[in-house]
Amino acid sequence: MSDALILLGPPGSGKGTQAVLLAERLGIPHISTGDILREHVAARTELGRRVEAIMSAGQLVPDELVNTIVEERLSRPDCEGGCILDGYPRTVAQAERLAEVLARRGLRPVIVNLAVDYNVIVTRITARRQCPVCGASYNLITNPPREDERCDRDGAALAARQDDSEEVVRRRLEAYERQTLPLIEYYRQIGVVFHDVPGDRGAPEQIAGRILELLGKG
Ligand code: ADP
Repeated sequence: MSDALILLGPPGSGKGTQAVLLAERLGIPHISTGDILREHVAARTELGRRVEAIMSAGQLVPDELVNTIVEERLSRPDCEGGCILDGYPRTVAQAERLAEVLARRGLRPVIVNLAVDYNVIVTRITARRQCPVCGASYNLITNPPREDERCDRDGAALAARQDDSEEVVRRRLEAYERQTLPLIEYYRQIGVVFHDVPGDRGAPEQIAGRILELLGKG
């Protein structure tokens, strides 16, 4: 049975960075609902137009929309050997739906919960940059690119996300506390494999190494 790695943690805990590193090391796809939604917004699809205002306000988009996106993505053959879910599920209703989909596909949920001090988060997020071409994440303080604000892989100029302003970050943290934090209790109660990992000790590669060790793949 293959694993569906579910990365939990507040915005700014490093889920996206870890997902990219782990996907490379494990050779399985990285599924980020945030990235998929942002692609829809950039391409101005019908879905993108529906979610744009919600996302830039730092709120969660309706469960039904993300559930459909993830269900479709998990039905593709590249997920048969496992996958990494980043930013999904974010509500208990999404987690309940995901449990059904994973069971049907023969994937075992494995939780990695990244814990990061809230004081660190705002500083981290406002220094965050992403490559608009390949999606690689950087942080000007903790994980800077080799060349000033340019992607190490393809040299593209890095950009900050629209919802990474301090005020919106505060609202995203509120949404996390209210809607996503209850997930930790949900997963502990249903008794799945659950790993707690400090997300603010060490460089991203060290944290990824620690996660791989916990998964028995170090
Ligand atoms: P972060 O984890 O740093 O907040 P993401 O890139 O995962 O950022 O998500 C950005 C935004 O996309 C969220 O604030 C929310 O509006 C929307 N979003 C992403 N995933 C979900 C989800 N599973 N459910 C609802 N909304 C989501």
